[in-house]
Amino acid sequence: MRVPFVTFKPLEKELDTELRSAFERVYENSWYIEGEEGKKFEEEFAAYCGVKHCIGCGNGLDALFLILKACGIGEGDEVIIPSNTFIATALAVSRTGARPVMVEPHLLTYNLNADKIEEKITECTKAVIAVHLYGQPADMDAVQEVARRHRLRVFEDAAQAHGALYKGKRVGGLADAAGFSFYPGKNLGALGDAGCVTTDDDEMAEKIRALSNYGSDYKYHHIYQGYNTRLDELQAAFLRAKLPILDKVNEDRRNTARRYLEGIRNPRLTLPHVDWDLYTPVWHIFAVRTSKRDELAKYLEEKDIHTNIHYPIAMHNQQAYQELGIARGSLPVCEEISDTQLSLPMYYGMKDEVDYVIQALNDWQ
Ligand SMILES: *Cc1c(COP(=O)(O)O)cnc(C)c1O
Repeated sequence: MRVPFVTFKPLEKELDTELRSAFERVYENSWYIEGEEGKKFEEEFAAYCGVKHCIGCGNGLDALFLILKACGIGEGDEVIIPSNTFIATALAVSRTGARPVMVEPHLLTYNLNADKIEEKITECTKAVIAVHLYGQPADMDAVQEVARRHRLRVFEDAAQAHGALYKGKRVGGLADAAGFSFYPGKNLGALGDAGCVTTDDDEMAEKIRALSNYGSDYKYHHIYQGYNTRLDELQAAFLRAKLPILDKVNEDRRNTARRYLEGIRNPRLTLPHVDWDLYTPVWHIFAVRTSKRDELAKYLEEKDIHTNIHYPIAMHNQQAYQELGIARGSLPVCEEISDTQLSLPMYYGMKDEVDYVIQALNDWQ
């Protein structure tokens, strides 16, 4: 049996009619940027997240960047981020001219360890970006508590966690603003690049909307030296077709995760930890750890089970971030994760594949 790491086929088959008619609708209208589909998707996604505003943009990196710019963060400022995240979280910070400051995650949840934030705060610290990594919300109460004491802004990087709940509340509405990505592989994915910001803050929403559209509040009237990063009509229409089944998609991923968690019995593997009473994760990634990671990946590949590593090189060890001068070995938890982490197949519509993966893992000596 072949088990891909990810495939969109089951979802696209189920929504075939809806996706094709989304295309038809936009094409018939001949209106491709800044139109009704974008407006409606923004309303629908804001309602879904339980926030006042959703502002579409070109991708998740831009969403985070726009949030930071709208808050005036730039040169000379520092922004705290987790060390274990996709590089976009750091890039959003450094693109403003500010410095990303990395805080270690918990080894069991892979998410930001809020107890480690305080020691990284300086006079230059302006904000914390909490990442809901692999689809599990960060401990936002703990993050908010530190942030309140030091008067820091808190933002969410929700690119991997559409629909996840923290203490019953949806991500996207847990901080001053949140950035989402609709990259095709995310839990809610477009058929191309797309992203958005969610926030309850009227002023920030207005500024982000203007910044994303050439700094313009109405056509040919420019109040900022802005950017061009917008959610186009086609992607918005595709997202509108997919949003109604997002909860179903996430529930299906949760079932797969439960089967993995209950079925995998191999002392050489460490499974991800979830406190199900407080967290409802959406399993963007199902991450296991083992000291023989590369060996395991090769073994699974031979059984036609395809895996991935998130992420093989810790951010501070990436060539792009040598300028930060963070020595190898100084973020040991993050390095431990990049040396031992393996992401198992996880996508909507997995059936017997789950048992096949579990059996292979349990047979691994
Ligand atoms: C995917 C992702 C992003 C960036 O999203 P893009 O749409 O690819 O720009 C940001 N942060 C995290 C954690 C991500 O996984």
